[in-house]
Amino acid sequence: MLDKSIILCRSCDLIVSKRALPIGVRALCPRCHSNLYDTPYCSINGMLALCITALVLYFPANIFPVLELHFLGSVRTTTVIQGAMSVASQGYWVVGIAVLVAAVIAPGLLILSVLTQILIVKYQMKNPFFRNIYRHLLRWHSLLTELTMLEIYMISIFVSVFQLSDYTDLYFGIGTFSFSILFIVVIFLQREYDIEHMWNQLNE
Ligand SMILES: [Zn+2]
Repeated sequence: MLDKSIILCRSCDLIVSKRALPIGVRALCPRCHSNLYDTPYCSINGMLALCITALVLYFPANIFPVLELHFLGSVRTTTVIQGAMSVASQGYWVVGIAVLVAAVIAPGLLILSVLTQILIVKYQMKNPFFRNIYRHLLRWHSLLTELTMLEIYMISIFVSVFQLSDYTDLYFGIGTFSFSILFIVVIFLQREYDIEHMWNQLNE
């Protein structure tokens, strides 16, 4: 059985025994003063709130247009999904699929996955069926985190706004607002989430 109270300093290999820390305090190596560990941010209720907020924002962010262009009397709107489709239909289907995965599919799955994990921990569902689901979700977590790249879409929105603002009138609506807030909420959710802490929940 691995003793979890003993850790090695990553910089100088000093053996340190781990202690409970108060919130917001970081343990430093006594020899080389590099960071050893933080208190886990991982507050289950905090993450639950972030997950529900993200889920509520997810639908308007994907259903409503993120950009509305008014050009010579014609009005064009585009949602994230339409944007990906139109790029794909112009022959750049790899880019289209990448946008769809990074900005729509992966974030959606990530939010659902974290929400399921939190509900399993919060309501202490200990039967083998839920433990199995939990274990699988943790295994897939890092892949989903790597695929979730809402910032790519945020950057492309900014680029098109700066490039197009000379030629057309741009309007932002509920879709733009939802997408931007979703972006921020997902950043906070990923910051709060600590995979080691979630694995430890399985053994408790
Ligand atoms: Zn050290």
